[in-house]
This record gives sequence, structure tokens and C-alpha cells, in this order.
Amino acid sequence: MKKREKNAAAAQNISGKLRCPLCYGAVEVRALSSLVCINNHTFDFAKQGYVNLLQKLVNTQYDDALFDARQRIIIEVELYAPIHNRISDIITNQSAENSLLFDAGSGEGSHLKMIQHKVNTETLTGVGLDISKAGVMMAAKNYEGPVWFVGDLANPPLADKSCKFILNFLSPANYAEFKRILTEDGMIIKVIPGSGYLKELRNELFNNTGESEYENNDTLELMKRNVKVVSEERITYKKTLNASALKDLISMTPLGWHADAAQIETFVGSGSKEITVDMHIIIAQAG
Ligand SMILES: [Zn+2]
Repeated sequence: MKKREKNAAAAQNISGKLRCPLCYGAVEVRALSSLVCINNHTFDFAKQGYVNLLQKLVNTQYDDALFDARQRIIIEVELYAPIHNRISDIITNQSAENSLLFDAGSGEGSHLKMIQHKVNTETLTGVGLDISKAGVMMAAKNYEGPVWFVGDLANPPLADKSCKFILNFLSPANYAEFKRILTEDGMIIKVIPGSGYLKELRNELFNNTGESEYENNDTLELMKRNVKVVSEERITYKKTLNASALKDLISMTPLGWHADAAQIETFVGSGSKEITVDMHIIIAQAG
């Protein structure tokens, strides 16, 4: 079976939980090559296995080089492994059989892949959606199993009450849609940076200027206004990164985009460094 067919088969298995992004009608997978709704809106699986739902592609600041860096940091350096472990425990402690894990803003797919791998429940299907075609294409190329969409977070191709788990990892939320697609017993797992996240980068590349603080109060307030937060926990640790990993880290983070080349060279040139990861994992229900 080719990649396109394999991924189409994965989508077929969950087609009852999908909907057309244009008319919101039911969809089915036809001939393992396209997603077709009851009103004949048709979306083809690309040869890499993803489906593009956008009528018009959106330019983002995210390109292949950035996604390559992000993938190395997540998969090879395993910078976020303790976070992935904790999230997979949270999912495993629920009944994850026959349910969807929707990654809202999945980028190049590595967070979803790592978490799903650790949950290790064969009937938990991952669905990744991102507005960046470059990211989704890379996700589909590298990771078999999840169903990958290029699409708008304001209009995910998911039916009402279809998702037991929504993952929102350092990514913007759309709570109206999250509430629509969550099952009755579903949970939103949102990861936001704590005040110490990448502080070494911020201190050395920005000398504690305005760019140096992560503000997550607004993010948390917005979340609390929209959904019912049931738990908050914080995970903080340090990891030593070598020079090439540091370079990847700088190029994958929006912080690094504003730093000048000489500063980056100085930062990376001094060899290995300890980097702080500080995250809040916030669990919420539709309320
Ligand atoms: Zn339709």
C-alpha cells in the first residue's frame, strides 16, 4: 500500500468523526484517494498522505528549515520528553480506546507523534491540523498513523463531540471550536510556557529587555473565561544542549528570529549550555 492509500485508510476508520469544512456535512473516503462529503465537496489526499482543506494557502513564517530544526529538538534531543511523558500518562489514565487525539496546531507533527507513541493504545487515532502546508507535508511524510490536515483552526474538519482529547501545545486556541468538537467526557490539554522557559536564551540574546519575559497570564485568563479548567500543573527542568542543538533551538523559536547573527554566534560558540524548560500543563473540560 502506498502512503496515500495508507493514510486514506486511517482517515476512513474515523470518517464518522469527520465533517466537511465547507458545508459541515458527513464525509466518506472514496477509493482511498479523496475525502468526499454528501454534497460532493472533494478533498484529495496528496501523495505524502495529508489532505489540504484550505481554498487558499496561507503564508506563514514557518518554513522547512524551521520545521527541520523543530523536529530534531523534539525527536532527537527529546527536549520535551518529560512533558510528553506526563501528557501520555494523563491520556492513559482516561479511557483512550476508540478515541481521537486532536493536535490543534500540530506543526510538523512531532509532539503528536511522540505522545501517541507513548500512549501506545492502538485504537487512539491522532489527528493533526495546521495552517502551514510545509509543516503538515513534513508530518505526513515522516509519521504514519495520524491523519494530517492543512486547515484552519477556526474550522477543523471534525464532527460535533468527536474528540476525547484536544492537544494544544504552545499554540493558539479556538475555544468555540474546541467546545464544539469535544466529547462529553473530553479534555483539552493545553501546554503554555512558564516564566522560566528558555530563560538562558532570553537572558543572553535579549539582555532582559522587553522580549525576555514570557507572559502567560493572558493566555490562562482567556482559557478560564472559555472553558472549565480542572487542573494546572507545572513541570520545570534543565537539559544540556550541544552547539548544534542550541542553533536548532534558536531557529525554531520566535524569540530567535529577532536576534542578530553575531549574538547567536556568541551564544552558540561557547559550546554546550544548560537550557531551562518550564511549562504549565492545563487540563480543561468544555464546561
Ligand atoms: Zn461539503
